[in-house]
Amino acid sequence: MYNKRTKINALLQADTTNYEATVMGWVRTFRNNQFIALNDGSTNNNLQVVVALGLLDDATLKRITTGACIKATGEIIASLGKGQKIELKATSIEILGDSDAEKFPLQPKKHSLEFLREIAHLRFRTNTFGAVFRVRHSLAFAIHQFFNDKGFVYLHTPIITASDAEGAGEMFRVTTLPLDGTAPKNADGAINYKEDFFGRSTNLTVSGQLEGELAAMAYSDIYTFGPTFRAENSNTARHLAEFWMIEPEVAFNDLEDNMNLAEEFIKYVINYALKNNKEDIEFLAQRLEDEEKTKPQAERSEMGLLEKLNFVVNNQFERLTYTEAIDILKNSNHNKKKKFQYPVENWGTDLQSEHERYLVEKHFKKPVILTDYPKEIKSFYMRMNDDGKTVAAMDILAPGIGEIVGGSQREERYDKLVQRMKEMNVPAEELDFYLDTRRFGSCIHAGFGLGFERLVLFVTGMTNIRDVIPFPRYPKSASF
Ligand code: ATP
Ligand code: MN
Repeated sequence: MYNKRTKINALLQADTTNYEATVMGWVRTFRNNQFIALNDGSTNNNLQVVVALGLLDDATLKRITTGACIKATGEIIASLGKGQKIELKATSIEILGDSDAEKFPLQPKKHSLEFLREIAHLRFRTNTFGAVFRVRHSLAFAIHQFFNDKGFVYLHTPIITASDAEGAGEMFRVTTLPLDGTAPKNADGAINYKEDFFGRSTNLTVSGQLEGELAAMAYSDIYTFGPTFRAENSNTARHLAEFWMIEPEVAFNDLEDNMNLAEEFIKYVINYALKNNKEDIEFLAQRLEDEEKTKPQAERSEMGLLEKLNFVVNNQFERLTYTEAIDILKNSNHNKKKKFQYPVENWGTDLQSEHERYLVEKHFKKPVILTDYPKEIKSFYMRMNDDGKTVAAMDILAPGIGEIVGGSQREERYDKLVQRMKEMNVPAEELDFYLDTRRFGSCIHAGFGLGFERLVLFVTGMTNIRDVIPFPRYPKSASF
């Protein structure tokens, strides 16, 4: 057995000394040919490994460079130096993997997030990304725990789909047909997808919701947690071409049940991270505070990261209708002074992210759930309200992020659903399987989609969505 190491996190947590331990990890710094700061990713805190004079020959000492991988065995003792309680007094050190200090791109200094994005394969080895992706892991784990505890079934929905009816965004085509112009064509010159791998045209999924609804009509409570793909050319700090989505779908839930579930869920996972990733979140809070200091006073956020997270966990989200929100926006000084890029004039227009952020950050100063949107700006499957003008939709808007959740009560009435599909030109033939749920034992049900990376953004206080997924995909970029 090779791996007889103790994780650095475990050593630092244990308050004991005078025992032998072996550690393995990557050198962050090496001072005075004597003090190695060693990190193994279990925590941002490094273990100080002390190399006594004469333990290693000069040639080996030279190989202890930033980025090198080493194994160290020795005694855990109380540290004499400042900054750490314990340290490892090495009795043997083995270089597992050299790292040419001249070529290793990570220097023991602060690098910009933009630079680190270009070397995303190495950025895990920095404090910021070390913390971000441990928090991401924790949130993913908390999500499964939350739904599992509630008796939800985790449903794997397909990544390759044939229906392009959902209308959530532009799709990536999946094909094995040649792209050099020799693909089989129909009489009218269009490509004949009957000859394609699946015998029809297929795409990467934009959402697992429709399939989720099918399963909810059997298990009552399901959730999905998987990758989704949108070929939208949105070069923003909040959009990715490949992102992960959590989509619970619950039979017998109405819109209010749906909002309650979403609010409880968000609070649960944030709480989990606050409890289980205290050090990492404190580190990220400090990082954010330092970053904020470089901004003009007016642009700084009023709350620090920890304050913000605790505030969200401890306060009710504000709930109001789209119509009430339009009134607030229309009558706001901001609107009257023409400070919105898109002035708010009429009921019925879609809210821009500047409007969402105004409501959340300036007006209510807390997360907001907007409900009952005009049917024209929402999807065909959302349940028609009695007014005939609005649908039972709900979006959750978070400070600094904007939309984090989009959901609705679904239209369970067959006739009404078919009518909406006609009005919105959704091809009913393609969705016959979906309509079956409304033919056989239909019932009221509701669900929502939460963009995982937007949640990670919120909890880590990072500002660009490309920095909270290990290898981001966005227009003109699919490196690594
Ligand atoms: P937006 O208006 O921000 O583009 P949307 O209305 O297209 O969002 P939905 O189709 O409702 O979003 O998707 C559900 C959730 O998935 C959103 O609330 C958001 O958290 C997330 N999401 C949507 N598009 C993206 C994307 N391109 N990258 C990352 N997350 C996304
Ligand atoms: Mn979108």
